[in-house]
Amino acid sequence: MSDCIFCKIAAGEIPAKKLYEDEHVIAFHDINPQAPVHFLVIPKLHIESMLALQPEHEAVMGRAMVVASRLAREQGLNEGFRSIVNTGKVGCQEVYHLHIHVLGGPDVLPAMLKH
Ligand code: AMP
Ligand code: ZN
Repeated sequence: MSDCIFCKIAAGEIPAKKLYEDEHVIAFHDINPQAPVHFLVIPKLHIESMLALQPEHEAVMGRAMVVASRLAREQGLNEGFRSIVNTGKVGCQEVYHLHIHVLGGPDVLPAMLKH
């Protein structure tokens, strides 16, 4: 997808504060962090949203979850964190390239679904 900002990050065409990369996924710090630690894990493959997932995506999404866990530990989130996948209009998705947010820090996060 030539006009997708996360595809461009995956292709190295625009910069990101990269935490991890392999052949299937890439992880980088969110540009507008909502917690002391806030990074995103994305498949390199352009998948629009969680609504678009198919059985052939099982391996890459499994990889994304395991990478998210490992990076969370490496970032010191050993007391826990929150993972979010905003999906579609109702989920307030802004970037239509599937991504897992990982948010955490020393303090307990606010309750979910607050505006
Ligand atoms: P959402 O689609 O609502 O789940 O969130 C998209 C997230 O992508 C937001 O938290 C943005 O701050 C983040 N974001 C947008 N552009 C960039 C970028 N170039 N580098 C890093 N994070 C970004
Ligand atoms: Zn994309």
